[in-house]
Amino acid sequence: MTKVDTKNHGVIAGLGERILGGGPISRDEALWLFHLESSVDVLDLLSWANRIREHFKGNKIHLCSIVNAKAGACSENCSFCAQSSFYQTGSPRYGFVDPGPVAEAAEEAGRNGVTALGLVAAWRGLSEGPILDEVCDRIRELKAGGKTRPDASLGIIKSQNVADRLKEAGLECYNHNLESSRRFFPKTCTTHTFDDRLETIRRVKQAGIKICSGGIIGMGETREDRCDLAFELKAIGANVVPLNILNPIQGTPFEKNPPLPVLEILKTIACFRFILPRQEIMIAGGRVVNLRDAQSLIFMAGASALMVGNYLTTLNQPVEKDLQMLKDLGLDPRWDRQGFSDQEEDGCGCGNGSRETEIELADAK
Ligand code: SF4
Repeated sequence: MTKVDTKNHGVIAGLGERILGGGPISRDEALWLFHLESSVDVLDLLSWANRIREHFKGNKIHLCSIVNAKAGACSENCSFCAQSSFYQTGSPRYGFVDPGPVAEAAEEAGRNGVTALGLVAAWRGLSEGPILDEVCDRIRELKAGGKTRPDASLGIIKSQNVADRLKEAGLECYNHNLESSRRFFPKTCTTHTFDDRLETIRRVKQAGIKICSGGIIGMGETREDRCDLAFELKAIGANVVPLNILNPIQGTPFEKNPPLPVLEILKTIACFRFILPRQEIMIAGGRVVNLRDAQSLIFMAGASALMVGNYLTTLNQPVEKDLQMLKDLGLDPRWDRQGFSDQEEDGCGCGNGSRETEIELADAK
């Protein structure tokens, strides 16, 4: 018989109860969760993350798809990316798309019950000019088609006017990932900075557009980096938090990165749910290749959103399989909170006045 250590059980439960009661988690407490090692503790953590997801999000799962609106030859050197012009990866290259492929993607997304379709472009960013006019046209067409919510991921935005024009065209949510912690970011990219990204997010928010921002795990970052990314995303007020798991692309600097263990991935999702209890936590790229048969456990780990359909340069599993997975788990992909009203906090959200208990943290191992 193996003696199972139960000393961490009460601490995890205490933190979980506090989040359910509307209270916050400190960085030290969250970091303690990130450092849990034994599978019994991690599975305990998942069950609390699942409760938190269920409490704040019910059984609804937000589905999102993307369409690559401009591919390859990007001027930036993000070390994980197949579309950077710095690396030989053989990924496709084409200019900004005509209405046809976007309308087709919207049709398909609508058929699959997908909430949002993101127009994604591989370039440094967007400024005033004819391309912005075209982007706004595609957004207007998507909005008028009424199949899905028009979202976009168009890189760095340097002028408030550009963000305002996107809003006027009908853009509801803008994706701009922080990718990792401020500390680790320079190891992922040197052609722009973490602050460039924060600035874009500030402009987009000021325009009244919702924020989709997350990152990638498995790039060689530490657990501290993952924890700091989650707190940074909380600080910027991200509404949707996409978590990608590195799928190492041949030809990129991260091509030989070792895969993260499945339990480490699930634990990271759960820790994000503790830190970001009301946000949509979306599992995006790298899901199939890294999680394989354990994919359905992402919801028990606290994920409330899923990217379906193919990724930008890699394949996903068929949407029918994802929809079947949700059905089997009793989860409902019809997401109807267009205004993200479920993210509004009761009171000021500082956690004062909520049930709070002093939790003593032991060595997590
Ligand atoms: S992640 Fe975006 S900005 Fe970076 S290289 Fe790829 S397409 Fe360019």
